Amino acid sequence: MSAAARILRGRILSFTDDPAVSGSRAYSLIEDGAVLVAAGMIEAVGEARDILSRAPRGALIDDHLGSFIMPGLIDAHVHYPQTQVIGSYGKQLLDWLRNYTFVEEQKFADPAHCARVAAFFLEELFRSGTTTAMVYCTVHPGSVDAFFAAAEERGARMIAGKVMMDRDAPEALMDTAERGYDESKALIERWRGRGRLGYAITPRFAVTSTPAQLEAAGALAREFPECYVQTHANENKAEIARVAALYPEAESYVDVYARAGLLGRRSVLGHCIHLQDSEVAALAASGAVAAFCPTSNLFLGSGLFDQARLTQAGVRIALATDVGGGTSYSMLRTAAEGYKVLQLNGQSWPALEAFYRMTLGNARALSLDDRIGSIEAGKEADLIALDPRATPSLAHRMEMARDNPEVELFALLTLGDDRAVRQTYVAGEPRKGKG
Ligand SMILES: [Zn+2]
Repeated sequence: MSAAARILRGRILSFTDDPAVSGSRAYSLIEDGAVLVAAGMIEAVGEARDILSRAPRGALIDDHLGSFIMPGLIDAHVHYPQTQVIGSYGKQLLDWLRNYTFVEEQKFADPAHCARVAAFFLEELFRSGTTTAMVYCTVHPGSVDAFFAAAEERGARMIAGKVMMDRDAPEALMDTAERGYDESKALIERWRGRGRLGYAITPRFAVTSTPAQLEAAGALAREFPECYVQTHANENKAEIARVAALYPEAESYVDVYARAGLLGRRSVLGHCIHLQDSEVAALAASGAVAAFCPTSNLFLGSGLFDQARLTQAGVRIALATDVGGGTSYSMLRTAAEGYKVLQLNGQSWPALEAFYRMTLGNARALSLDDRIGSIEAGKEADLIALDPRATPSLAHRMEMARDNPEVELFALLTLGDDRAVRQTYVAGEPRKGKG
């Protein structure tokens, strides 16, 4: 972390609550605002004239005139080993896994490959304005070591874990119930409390774990309550039928995880598309999070996430890219496709709610809102500058926005991508273009 203080000047947008719940009281926008950061933390935020008048001697000033300064974006479900199978043609979930993912992930037996891909992945997230993610590694413990080392080197807040698979996968990608437990435990002990890193116990999904392995994962979750749990659920109909056949004693797919002790407030379940009412109720009662992965759900033809149904039932929701089933690292692109998925379900999604979800909403879903997700003194200085006129198309569109921030934000969401990210600050340090 650099010793020099830094001031970011621009249009400061930050949320204190969900606009779907609290309306216009849920956010603040300071048109000529500034954020003072030092030693990786936000020291002050307010009107630019006030912040500048009390700037420490020698403070650097980054002028992002006209750009929104927001908290760094958060991706709640993504696979770093899939950066070279993103955009692979054809097939739905189970075939896609076998034809592409399970071939690709075998390369992560090589630590040098892990290190190279981890670095690429983190730089790509930063280029896209994402500063925190909840990440699947592969079955190889070295894939986790490489990812955490790369995140620690860059000062980034990241959550990750070793995938556990003990059936229905290539021999080279399988552990056993016992080995999955032992290797995960060793990784937790090696990395816990280090820097800004968090561990996620990661059984890939019920198809590729035996009941014994899910029980071992549940035992880890009880032993290390500070750890997260991440897995997949109810993504695709063939997958759901397979889980029903493999777990005949369970009442439903979600019940498989409930029985193993894997549902709780620190559990994030990718997809949650085809849910029975009892599964919705179980998610709500446990506080588990459903991760909406729109580009992946469209790309793999999995189905349409029903946000209104889950919200009404009290299920916690996050937004995620799910690269490489997902097709973009950009949370802006992801939210734009999310908007379209909800439209197909007869639902709407105002821009303010989408930007809340990408920032404070996802921070809350990951129980990190005491540290990240909003711009206030004492929070960690993960910030982005988003230029609503970054491309000719955006600039042209903004001529019609009439300085209405909601119009600007919706157009930015619909037309924006990594090009709209002027700068990404990780713990106060500019990271875009540093790779
Ligand atoms: Zn996934």
